[in-house]
Amino acid sequence: MPLDFLTLMTAMAANLFMISAALPLIMGRDVSRAARHVQASLLLQALAWAAIIASSSLWDRTLSTVSIACNAAAQWMLYRALEEWLGPRPLRRLLLALVVAAPLGYALGFDHYAWRVGWANGLMAAILCIVARATLYPLILADVRWRSVLLGCLLTSAVFTLARGLLGAFTDEYPSFRSPHPINLAAALATNVSLVLGTVAVLVAWRYEAEQKLRTLAMTDGLTGLLNRRGFSNQGDNLLAHAWRHRLPLTALMLDLDHFKQINDTHGHDAGDRALQLFARLLGDTCRSGDLIARLGGEEFAVLMLHNTAAAGVAFDRRLRHRLQDASAAELGFVLNYSVGMAALVPGEANLAALMARADIALYEAKTAGRGRLMAAS
Ligand code: GH3
Ligand code: MG
Ligand code: MG
Repeated sequence: MPLDFLTLMTAMAANLFMISAALPLIMGRDVSRAARHVQASLLLQALAWAAIIASSSLWDRTLSTVSIACNAAAQWMLYRALEEWLGPRPLRRLLLALVVAAPLGYALGFDHYAWRVGWANGLMAAILCIVARATLYPLILADVRWRSVLLGCLLTSAVFTLARGLLGAFTDEYPSFRSPHPINLAAALATNVSLVLGTVAVLVAWRYEAEQKLRTLAMTDGLTGLLNRRGFSNQGDNLLAHAWRHRLPLTALMLDLDHFKQINDTHGHDAGDRALQLFARLLGDTCRSGDLIARLGGEEFAVLMLHNTAAAGVAFDRRLRHRLQDASAAELGFVLNYSVGMAALVPGEANLAALMARADIALYEAKTAGRGRLMAAS
């Protein structure tokens, strides 16, 4: 079956333009930075193909340089989307240097055919490999399936690009990027398939990102930014299991602001909100990383401290009380106080609810004993 190369390329460019026009419509206005980078990447790829097709009829040097620049920039945008989805990615500076060097070297060496084909394709292949590498080893939890599909697409493109570069640089066999050479036909087919698969992969990645955001939102308290009750029980269960597995001490605190209703009544609801935010901030400042802090509801907070026995809980309370006294007077204009119940994990206590229930009873005792103090569960 004879394949017409120009038809393949035109279909490719048309598909890319349609996808880059449709994606913003499908994704809507309010999308993440990663999604914007993907949109930019596709648009740049579309421009790259349009420029290479147009360069056969006019301004060959300029348009084919523009094409290479757009193609390299498209990969840079994809890399940046991967950074957003997977955390910092390796070889960032090298990639940026290659993205600039590829069109520059091509334009400067344009009159030397073997040089310009070898240079542009060699560097583009390296760029594709770096972006392919960026799909691996995520620092943020990410599904392996979409990453594998993207990795496959990028590596396939890298292989064809490198083959073109080698043929152009070291043999007389490769006439031009636009000619119906078998490698060009095979590459055009592979690129068409990669385009479809790659687009599916980034759409799935985007869906995972949106899901992850919703999950975080569902576990976060809007006023203080702390975990809410759902987030606390979710992560608290994991922390408890970890403590059991490694036989680590674990201490729970239940904290409740004293006479908070009165604070609202006297100073207004806004001042009450600011008091809650201040308390949340001080809890965060007083905790160590790895401790779990949550606003369970209203003016009730909880802390789970791993590696800590009751003595550490008492020290925590002392530090917090001290800070709160100074900060509330300075920032709110009145002194905020709280009561706290403490329970340390005991043998046989395998669920978070039981531990927190003991801390809650101790909190109740602290309230009835006159507030503004810590009580430890027996
Ligand atoms: P106690 O010392 O016994 O804990 O007394 P209290 O007044 O703190 O306890 P109570 O449970 O009677 O009142 C809690 C108050 O917290 C009532 C409610 O209006 C207030 N509150 C709950 N959520 C919020 C909030 O998000 N913002 C503000 N400003 N107030 C809140
Ligand atoms: Mg209270
Ligand atoms: Mg309360």
